[in-house]
Amino acid sequence: MNVRAEASSEQEKQQILNRYRGLLRASQHSNTREDRRMIRRAFNTAVEAHQGTRRRSGEPYIFHPIAVARIVAEEMRLGTTSIVAALLHDTVEDTNLNLDRIEREFGKRVATIIDGLTKIPGSFDQNQSPQAENFRKMLLSLSEDVRVILIKLADRLHNMRTLDSMKRQTQLKIASETEFLYAPLAHRLGLYSIKTELEDLALKFKEPEAYEEIRQKLKKGKEVRSRFINRFMRPIREDLEREGYDFKVKWRTKSIHSIFQKIHNKGVPFEEIYDLFAVRIILNSPPRKEKADCWKIYSIVTDHYKPNPDRLRDWISTPKSNGYESLHTTVMSPTGKWVEVQIRSERMDEVAEMGYAAHWRYKEQEKTAEGNLDRWLTRVRELLEDPESNALEFLDDLKLNLFSDEIFVFTPKGDLKTLPVGATALDLAFEIHSQVGERCTGAKVNHKLVPLDHQLQSGDQAEVLTSKNQKPKEDWLKFVVTAKARSKIKSALNREKREAGLEGKERLQRKLEHMKVPFDDENLRVILRYFEVPNEKELYYRIAKGALDLSHLKELEVKGKRFSIPEKKESQEKAPLKPRTKVRPDPKDTLIIGEELKNTEYKLAPCCRPIPGDDVFGYITSNDGVKIHRTNCPNAMELMSRHAQRVIKARWASQEQLEFTAGIRITGIDGLGMVNQITDIISDQNHINMNKISFQSNAGVFEGLLQVMVHDTLHLDKLIQKIQSIDGVDQVERVDESKTEQDA
Ligand code: MN
Repeated sequence: MNVRAEASSEQEKQQILNRYRGLLRASQHSNTREDRRMIRRAFNTAVEAHQGTRRRSGEPYIFHPIAVARIVAEEMRLGTTSIVAALLHDTVEDTNLNLDRIEREFGKRVATIIDGLTKIPGSFDQNQSPQAENFRKMLLSLSEDVRVILIKLADRLHNMRTLDSMKRQTQLKIASETEFLYAPLAHRLGLYSIKTELEDLALKFKEPEAYEEIRQKLKKGKEVRSRFINRFMRPIREDLEREGYDFKVKWRTKSIHSIFQKIHNKGVPFEEIYDLFAVRIILNSPPRKEKADCWKIYSIVTDHYKPNPDRLRDWISTPKSNGYESLHTTVMSPTGKWVEVQIRSERMDEVAEMGYAAHWRYKEQEKTAEGNLDRWLTRVRELLEDPESNALEFLDDLKLNLFSDEIFVFTPKGDLKTLPVGATALDLAFEIHSQVGERCTGAKVNHKLVPLDHQLQSGDQAEVLTSKNQKPKEDWLKFVVTAKARSKIKSALNREKREAGLEGKERLQRKLEHMKVPFDDENLRVILRYFEVPNEKELYYRIAKGALDLSHLKELEVKGKRFSIPEKKESQEKAPLKPRTKVRPDPKDTLIIGEELKNTEYKLAPCCRPIPGDDVFGYITSNDGVKIHRTNCPNAMELMSRHAQRVIKARWASQEQLEFTAGIRITGIDGLGMVNQITDIISDQNHINMNKISFQSNAGVFEGLLQVMVHDTLHLDKLIQKIQSIDGVDQVERVDESKTEQDA
């Protein structure tokens, strides 16, 4: 070693020690001798383990674990265990140190945390899917110790702060991953400042120019804003002081990332973003008085400035699910500018800034905010423990939940349910219980019947309607938004497909046995081609669902136990063979009108006038309850294809005592007494009431349009047959209401 290298090594040692002292100063909560001793030991162990290794920037590697430990202590305010684990976080993965030794020297707790962190290999050279798997593993360790995630976030934050020395390619990859996974996670854990910094840093590397432009503009306006806020706050301050409140005023501009979002997603120019900053009034108020105090301050603020009633947010009575509590109002300043004022206690402010870490510290005193986060963690765990979910799908599902804000919905009993914005009635059903979700047929929101895909609003009172005959449908996935509902529906569908597959396969095997054709690959291939089905799984499924009629196998040629498609049929006769795919309704899969729908309003659609015996379905209209249509109603196809989620199956229970209107059109050769003969058959012989009747005659040909009251289709068919038998009658057919209406 030459003199200069020695000197620089001395200098480096000094730098390492300085950083270590900085860490100790930041570790305010670790002030016992035992705490200090543990941290010292972890520091020595880490220094030794990382000896001689450097980061890409050229600085000693140990700078990194010290910095991560400092974030953990200072920005998350975690305790000794976390600081020790942060100092050692890269040792097991990158150095010769093993978990056994960590456990011997630092105890089980620290070893478990480091194990959780080690399971996630460095993400730099990995393709997306293992990264997702790693992320999932990391979340899984939530159930062991949430500190794993907090330290991982601190690690990511430091890596983002020092991303400059990385290659452009790596920068982009890490920045995207941070925006995609880590910032939302920090948000969910309530780590507001860390989330904001992660997003801003991600933007800095992804969109350097836009980032710099916004940063400059913010810097330029700082003086003006500061003066504005002082003037705005002056009267409020005076009142607060007179009333003897102990308070602080803070203000902060929106993050660069969220300004960027507003400019690029909503097209609002920088100069017109009115909520560029928010003023915060933070009170020193004892827990029992804080809510009342916050409202008193609200009253003082609105004595001076007029509030916008649409923008009052009371997160104190109903905290967000990440624990956030605060009272927000937006008021009009004398210069005509809207200003957001956030009012909260010191405790609430700490929770808002540090999220979970702060909850931890307030755990003993305050249990409510904690409950929300626990609920979320439970939800994450449920997802993770679902054996059906794969890592990437899981991430998609989770992201949905991470990004969204909440709405609050009340059950009929007054229980409060928290759901993400955009959640539907079906999401609520799954939130209540997965079985309620699977059987959900609709809901009553504020006493009005709504379809499954109805989006709930905060404050709605919602009651879920179920039917034991309901089961999850593929198209449900198109509108549910909660991860829980998605994963439960997917599992149910998979389960059903698997079961149906087995059943379909058995049926095909039996059929072939019957036809004395072997069930083998070669014959299967012909069958697939013949029915134009992509694969066996789908084939079995369709057979089981009755969507595919096996009797059509007769149309195949059999030569020496081998199926083949008759040539003629394969070429020209393709069209007539097509309709072999038909959907046969499953009798169990129906909702009986007049039984399960008894308590909901339904009407028979005037466009097709269904009567008992008709194939019908229910359509949930947006403001007129359920309408029952015939499946062959001209409107049915469109309704079913465009709004499938609003369609509910329906069939008739026996309703012989009731009568329904049906239209009939009769044509034939006009003869003397024709009208009399017809009405005689209808009313005198069959005692059927007629609503409307009209006859037109033209050049010896007549057309009659009638509305008759019948019990069901059987009743109607009999009547039609009788009229048909009258001499001179050519055709009798059932027609839609609209046709009989025209001439009546
Ligand atoms: Mn690290």
